[in-house]
Amino acid sequence: MGFLGEIEGKRVHDPYYWTTGKKMSDPNKTGKNMSNRNKTGNITSESTHKIHVPGPLIVGAGPSGLAAAACLKSKGVVSLVLERSNCIASLWQLKTYDRLRLHLPKQFCELPLMPFPDSFPNYPDKWQFIRYLEEYAEKFDIRPVFNKSVVSAKYDKGERLWRVKTNGAFKGGEGEGEREYFCPWLIVATGENAEAVVPDIEGVEEFGGSVMHTSLYKSGDLFEGKKVLVVGCGNSGMEVCLDLCNHNARPSLVVRDSVHVLPREMLGTSTFGLSMWLLKWLPLRLVDRFLLIVSWLLLGDTAKLGLYRPKMGPLELKNVAGKTPVLDVGTLAKISSGDITVTPAIRRLTRHSVEFENGERENFDAIILATGYKSNVPSWLKEREMFSEKDGLPKKPFPNGWKGECGLYAVGFTKRGLLGASLDAKRIAEDIQLAMNLLYYRIYVVSYCGFTNFFTLEKK
Ligand SMILES: Cc1cc2nc3c(=O)[nH]c(=O)nc-3n(C[C@H](O)[C@H](O)[C@H](O)COP(=O)(O)OP(=O)(O)OC[C@H]3O[C@@H](n4cnc5c(N)ncnc54)[C@H](O)[C@@H]3O)c2cc1C
Repeated sequence: MGFLGEIEGKRVHDPYYWTTGKKMSDPNKTGKNMSNRNKTGNITSESTHKIHVPGPLIVGAGPSGLAAAACLKSKGVVSLVLERSNCIASLWQLKTYDRLRLHLPKQFCELPLMPFPDSFPNYPDKWQFIRYLEEYAEKFDIRPVFNKSVVSAKYDKGERLWRVKTNGAFKGGEGEGEREYFCPWLIVATGENAEAVVPDIEGVEEFGGSVMHTSLYKSGDLFEGKKVLVVGCGNSGMEVCLDLCNHNARPSLVVRDSVHVLPREMLGTSTFGLSMWLLKWLPLRLVDRFLLIVSWLLLGDTAKLGLYRPKMGPLELKNVAGKTPVLDVGTLAKISSGDITVTPAIRRLTRHSVEFENGERENFDAIILATGYKSNVPSWLKEREMFSEKDGLPKKPFPNGWKGECGLYAVGFTKRGLLGASLDAKRIAEDIQLAMNLLYYRIYVVSYCGFTNFFTLEKK
């Protein structure tokens, strides 16, 4: 099979080779500015605004995109990564609060082929995680093209290629201008958290204080002494409340739905790790029962604090509805002590106050929306088979959502965090390597038969 490697090596590392077989002119020889290889080190070639990518194109340079690129690289497949912002892992670098740590222990958050350093704590902070991702990109020589926001991608049946259009983000900068990329494989890695979800709240334009999404919240020091209403009781909402308390603000937490709060650790180990281990031996519902009993022993009855538990157990709910349980990092104690008050849903806002569903009114200086994120895939991917238009996630349930038709893949849409993304990345790399080998085998057979026919005809 050595010939496959040889052909692959020649094709994939030839930046001017288009997969349809057209050899493009070398811009360095023609003098035209057609290549951006110097900047990105990647496998593109560029003719004015059209760029032919002979390998996979990955949209998004978050942990999932990086994992996919690294797994492909380890199999000798070079990919092109497009990223709308100006850095890798933009969610972590630009949209998270300062006190954030990984919610899960590090062994459940590492990307394929590179463990976290031993010196890192069990729950690395966000700066350590970003450092890890930067070293990861460096190790696998992943150099995304930044400031390229993908605005549309559709499959061209005639060319048998994906046509991916981007907008440049900055005028006059590296990302300026529209581009159209052509590639045989498209890997969607734009994440489950691509866009902030901002609910419509009646009277919000009238409200005199500041209203911000958690993606803009950095730390509680701006809110010292202020009354702040945090909307949403997921992991982010709970942790932002705790941060506000620690900065001497006076937070209240809007709890509209039922929620499972579990201790981050139980019986001397992480709740997540323990659950994974128990699930190997016991049925899910039994593990749920166990988690709820231990949580009750450690945290007490959360309903007494206004946090009612859903009827379904935490793991079953995660499986059925993708709703992640909150892992408590100290917020419950602050609710118990009265430092954080729990309120019902908001009915409307007025200039200075918030009116709640129970009719009560209270004045607040600021509102922080911990109302989550959503996928942006339906806004740019012109394909309706693989991804649901409703939530922008793959229609097929885990673990089958990673592969679509015509060379389309998804990484990081399993609702299973970094662990799920790593699994997707490995599968995608194996699948593309197999497809490439098949392609090169066909090319080899066709060329071989062509030669044989030619010599037979010559002899005649
Ligand atoms: C506060 C917080 C804490 C978390 N903690 C954990 C944890 O401890 N463990 C865990 O496993 N998971 C955690 N998660 C889940 C988290 O989403 C994943 O860990 C991880 O960031 C997912 O990586 P991703 O690459 O799939 O998505 P993202 O990190 O969102 O990366 C997607 C990238 O795609 C880019 N992009 C989006 N649209 C386009 C476009 N149209 N064109 C070009 N580029 C685009 C974005 O700019 C972004 O850089 C946490 C999430 C949040 C919000």
